[in-house]
Formats: sequence, C-alpha cells, structure tokens
Amino acid sequence: MSIKKLETKTREHGLSLIEKGYAFFGALPNLRRTVTAICASDNLFPTKPQPSARNLATMKNFRLHIALFLVVLAAVIGFASFETGSSRGQSKDSKAESGVKPTILISDRQPDRAAENSSFSAASERNAVLMNELTWTFGGKQQRGWYLYNALINQTLNRTEDAGSKGFAAALAGWQQTTGLPGSGILEENTLMGIISEWQRNRLKDRTVAQPDQLLTAPASDFYDPERAPELRQVQRETYAAYKRLIAAAMAEPSLGLAHTPDGELAPTEKYLKIVSAFRSPEYQEQLRRQYPNAGSAGLATHSPHFTGRALDLYVGGDPVDTKDSNRAIQVNTPVYQWLVHNAEHFGFRPYFYEPWHWEYVK
Ligand SMILES: [Zn+2]
Repeated sequence: MSIKKLETKTREHGLSLIEKGYAFFGALPNLRRTVTAICASDNLFPTKPQPSARNLATMKNFRLHIALFLVVLAAVIGFASFETGSSRGQSKDSKAESGVKPTILISDRQPDRAAENSSFSAASERNAVLMNELTWTFGGKQQRGWYLYNALINQTLNRTEDAGSKGFAAALAGWQQTTGLPGSGILEENTLMGIISEWQRNRLKDRTVAQPDQLLTAPASDFYDPERAPELRQVQRETYAAYKRLIAAAMAEPSLGLAHTPDGELAPTEKYLKIVSAFRSPEYQEQLRRQYPNAGSAGLATHSPHFTGRALDLYVGGDPVDTKDSNRAIQVNTPVYQWLVHNAEHFGFRPYFYEPWHWEYVK
C-alpha cells in the first residue's frame, strides 16, 4: 500500500468524529421543547381534596364549604400569578442568553431609515469582529469565528453580501425574526447555533447501510485517486446519477474552467469535483479502526452517512479532507466550492457545513 493511500485512509477515518456532530445539533430544538414541557407540567397543581365535605349537613358545615371555596379560590389566584411569573422568568432568561438588547428589535421596526442604518452600523461592526473571534464549540472542539461559513450563511440568507456589511446585518436580522430570535443583525452564538441547526436538519436523516443492489461501482476516472480499488468506488445509484448531472452543469460553467474530455467527462488531469470517497461499509470502517487504533474513537463511525452510499467527499481544493481551519479557509474560497454552495441543492445535494468536501444526496 502506498503512503498516499495510507494517508487518505487515515483522513477518512478522522472524518466521522465531526460528522457525528449532526445528531447533537439535530436534538437541540427537541431538548428545548422538552424543557418547556417539563416547566409547564410543573405548574399543574393536584386538585384540592375535600375529605370532610360528604359528612357535613348543617349550617356550620355550609360555612366550612365557603371557607373551602375561599381556599380553592386563593389557590387558583396563586396558580395564575405563579404561571405569569414563571413565563416572565423564561422570557428574561432567553433574552439574557442571546445577549441582545430589545431596543434594537424595536428600532428595526421603525420606518426611520437613519435609526435603522445606525443600528445595523453597530451590528455590522460587531459582526466584523465576531466573524473572526466568536468562541463556540462543535464536535467537542473549540471553534473560533464563523468566517469559514460566510458562503453558506449568505446562501441561507439568500444574499451575497460581505459579512461585515450593513446589508448582511439587515438580512440576518430578517432571518433571526423568522426563527423567533431577536432581530439584532448580530451573528452571536445563539444565532450561529440556529443557522447550524437549520443546515443540520437538511442533511440525511436515514443512515441505513446501503444494500449491494443499491450500489454501483463508479469508474476510476471519477475518483481523485485513479488507483482507488473497485470496492471503494461504490456509490448509491441515484446519488451517482445526480452527481453526473451536477458535474455536467459545473463543466458548462466557464468561470470554473474545469478541464474535460470531448465526451463530457472530467479530464484525467482535472482534480476538482472528483470523488475522494463515497460508500464506506461498516466493515471497512472497522478495518480502518484496527489498522489505525490511534486515529480516533471507532464507535463514532457507526452512523457515518457514508454507509448509505449517498454521501460524497468531493475535491474542492487544498488538502482533500483535512479539517484544519487553514485548510478549510483555502477550500471555502475556491470557485468550485462557491459554485457548489449556490448550485448543489438544485441537484439534490446538501452540504455538511464543517467539511467543505462532504455533500449528501438527500432526495
Ligand atoms: Zn464525508
């Protein structure tokens, strides 16, 4: 086995850890719902028992009835004020979490253009800093800034703005409001988590291992490594057809300058958009785990989207599948990656934000 192949295998193995982050983020909205449900059920007081009521027949007992009624009434009033208090408490908490002042939300709704401009001016200045400095966690790793995701964020906002511009902040404020977040226009942690949750929700949900009849063996010429073994060139059938349609569209885009053959295939010399990795069987992952025991936790590979044959790692520049920020910074700025962000969805492919090379066919 060549050193190059060994490297590729090691890298493939390392992918699963971060890909697994999907499950965590997908669960977030559910978690919030569960917390709300628990709070709501905490407010349900048991009905007041009236043990002595059936023994009372006299006027004295009637007075007791009135006394009981008053007790129940007091309990109902107490219950109502408790409920109001707790819901107030919740909204206070959510504002504290977002770190956004409600005054910005109010000014966004004013027709006063000058006020709007000044508020988004502050937001855009904040975004220019947070873009490189926001600290957050993903896949158990501390992350810094969101500049690597500018293209994806703009795609979500349906814009093509500089992330430090007022137009970007205004578009972000609109997105925030559609998701119930304060429309500050500032891309802070809460908003970033919301955007990431949306991306993750759009990914493959069913990760059942592909059956042999669902797979085909793609020609070696489709692969980044033309010597890749046939058993590692399997792709789910519809995914492969969609990939070929995507490639045809990319080759027809002159600005990408993809080298191709007269019969419309990517040229042997062309590396961009070639497949680095497609279907990976659980057995193959297991084999990698045994070969490279220090490459990471093998358990993380048990639900890889690559098991479905619908996940494709495509070459988008730089080191093919290296998650270092410096490498991803190269990848997310290539014309091919930018084109994928804008166009892959038309062919049924959704991105995995953290790995610019990883695309999943979700149709
Ligand atoms: Zn992948």
